[in-house]
Amino acid sequence: MKIFNQFRSGIKKTSNFLTSNLLDSLKLKKIDQEVLEKIESILISADLGIEVTNQLIDKIKNYKIINPGNPNEILKLIAKEIEIILEPREKMLITNEDDIPTILLFIGVNGSGKTTSIGKLIGKIPKNKKILIGACDTFRAAAVEQLKKWSNMENTDFWQGSLNQDPASVAYSAAQKTLKENYDYLFLDTAGRLSNNANLINQLIKIKTVVNKSMNDINMKTVLVLDGTNGSNMITQVDTFNKSINVEGLIITKIDGTAKGGAIVSIAKKYDIPIHYVGLGEKINDLFEFNAKEYSLSLLDLNI
Ligand code: GDP
Ligand code: MG
Repeated sequence: MKIFNQFRSGIKKTSNFLTSNLLDSLKLKKIDQEVLEKIESILISADLGIEVTNQLIDKIKNYKIINPGNPNEILKLIAKEIEIILEPREKMLITNEDDIPTILLFIGVNGSGKTTSIGKLIGKIPKNKKILIGACDTFRAAAVEQLKKWSNMENTDFWQGSLNQDPASVAYSAAQKTLKENYDYLFLDTAGRLSNNANLINQLIKIKTVVNKSMNDINMKTVLVLDGTNGSNMITQVDTFNKSINVEGLIITKIDGTAKGGAIVSIAKKYDIPIHYVGLGEKINDLFEFNAKEYSLSLLDLNI
């Protein structure tokens, strides 16, 4: 309950926007065409996307109101339908059944929250697991230092190369170390800042290829980290990365800073890719396991 309340308050910017506007329209008791159009434009503004919005509007249209004048009924209806869309995307990133070792490759554009999410995540792994962090963002010393700070805080081993060293060679040596020294998990942080998308993608493909070559049948998961304040523009990023690199999981950050948290629903509708975590702040405890029910109820500011 405490966690849910924390989660719910982290998502307030979106839920305030959605519920205050929806309640305003639903005050009118009768849900006629005009009200439906208003609701439609509110859902679109919260970046739920056309497809999800149409699905929700259909649901509302066909719904027989039990208590006219009780807008909560409609909010609950919307939340339930959103939960149905989100539910298949719930999946743990780290489980007891993970192969040993498992390599987690974090990718995403600059500033999306890769380094911070790794830092928050390593704190969640059981203490009996042996973790190595590989700093493949070799373009800025500060990037390595930022990651090292998290690593020190969580007492995990750290692997870095020299400044401007080929990130793929750092990844390769980190993977070798992982095998030789029996680590359970290797987290690879990467740079998002390259002169253009093609260069960035090629760099990431190289990292993947090199790591795969260094170990047979390695369990490597590629996790795309998205900045939630980008709203529906996140879709373009999923498209770009997923076209060239098989994206196996998503982490969506900074939902605390946006009223466009509805975009997660449009991503869930469009892509069959698990959403593992949602970031709701900069601190270690601000990374939340993605839960369809909690997310949908929080979006509509409803209680569990
Ligand atoms: P990277 O370039 O992808 O590694 O991004 P960073 O991890 O360096 O994060 C960029 C900025 O976003 C930092 O200032 C983080 O503290 C901040 N940040 C990351 N995740 C969240 C989040 O969930 N909420 C908020 N408010 N800030 C975040
Ligand atoms: Mg970084």
